Amino acid sequence: MNTDLEAAAAVIPGFVEKAPLERYVDPDRPSLVGRSRAELAAALGELGVPQAQRKMRVQQLWHWLYVRGVTSFDAMTSISKELRAALEQRFTVARPEVVAEQVSVDGTRKWLLRLPGENPNERPHEVECVYIPETGRGTLCISSQVGCTLNCTFCHTGTQRLVRNLTAGEIVGQIMVARDRLGDWPGLPLPALPREGRGDGAIVPTDGGRFVTNIVMMGMGEPLYNFEAVRDALLVVADNEGIAISKRKITVSTSGVVPNIRRTGEEIGVMLAVSLHAVRNDLRNELVPLNRKYPIEALLEACRTYPGLTNAKRITFEYVMLKDVNDSLADARALVRLLAGIPAKINLIPFNPWPGAIHECSDWETIEKFSAVVFNAGYSAPVRTPRGRDILAACGQLKSATEKLSARERMALRAMAMTE
Ligand code: SAH
Ligand code: SF4
Repeated sequence: MNTDLEAAAAVIPGFVEKAPLERYVDPDRPSLVGRSRAELAAALGELGVPQAQRKMRVQQLWHWLYVRGVTSFDAMTSISKELRAALEQRFTVARPEVVAEQVSVDGTRKWLLRLPGENPNERPHEVECVYIPETGRGTLCISSQVGCTLNCTFCHTGTQRLVRNLTAGEIVGQIMVARDRLGDWPGLPLPALPREGRGDGAIVPTDGGRFVTNIVMMGMGEPLYNFEAVRDALLVVADNEGIAISKRKITVSTSGVVPNIRRTGEEIGVMLAVSLHAVRNDLRNELVPLNRKYPIEALLEACRTYPGLTNAKRITFEYVMLKDVNDSLADARALVRLLAGIPAKINLIPFNPWPGAIHECSDWETIEKFSAVVFNAGYSAPVRTPRGRDILAACGQLKSATEKLSARERMALRAMAMTE
């Protein structure tokens, strides 16, 4: 992989750092990272902590884990030495292992994380998450599965065989890793972030001095096919006595798993993004094969009745711009007609090619015309900040880059589109 990354570094201007960080060691004890209060109480129960004390101990653990971000039980100084030792014997506070870190000149960072295989002796799995700093906010794009069971024609993840669902701990763990690497915990010294090549709006603390202010589930996988783990993880992340990222700043993106859309609103209460990509069933059947099971009408009905939907809390419709496939002005007009009456935002995503992809990215001019139709229909036309243009410019250039980098660019673009 190193060689690939080196090759990519030569191709992509602004790719300034890559650093293999640690060697992989299979965890021998389970991590408490990502556990809910009830699960922490159960863990304490296993250690023989009397029922009457558990609530208070859970509060302490919660604070050390999710407010302070400590990486050892030793650091949990309000907890007795005996209990810390007992915790240490049975559990860890480990995060997913960081295998590599890449930093681009505009401050975008990608971490490649290694997770245990499902069975002993199986090869470890890898997922990536991307941090995109902008003025006033920092968005972290995280994964829900290793690979994906669905096969959208334009998506590289779809070509990988599904390996497995991530656990809630691994989902929360991605945020913990990002905050560790960014020095985003209160009371800890700022890490030595590389200064060279830092672009405008790069690594600066945002909102209330925090780096990670927004979360988008737009990495690998279909979050609504891993519903329980995603729900449990996001409830931990949104808890306002812990990591405390507000539900308004968390977005789950789905390709349209209709039965779980209502549940997302009811049981998680976060923002929803829907990968629409086509306005007719015949085309969407092809691009997003899940459409054969849940066609556009059913999908839009689930959107219309999404719990908590208001003009202030709109659904984002994602639309990937594929040359000569879905990018005509007739498509643009049909798109705005289709969404009439649904409090919506529309994000046009320039297609990011990957080796072997059958699509091409629409021309910039076509995207602008398409975007004008959307804009004239009253939607904020979301293409694009100068930085987005930079990345769009890379859209064609990326043809010769590695798969990993085009994935990075793709995730960065999507997450930026979300945070306009
Ligand atoms: N599985 C979920 C979330 C992950 S994909 C979903 O499909 O919504 C996040 C977004 O990236 C989706 O809108 C997806 O359609 C889009 N996407 C996938 N591959 C892309 C590519 N090569 N270029 C641009 N957008 C892509
Ligand atoms: Fe890719 Fe999302 Fe489709 Fe899965 S559902 S193949 S992650 S676009």
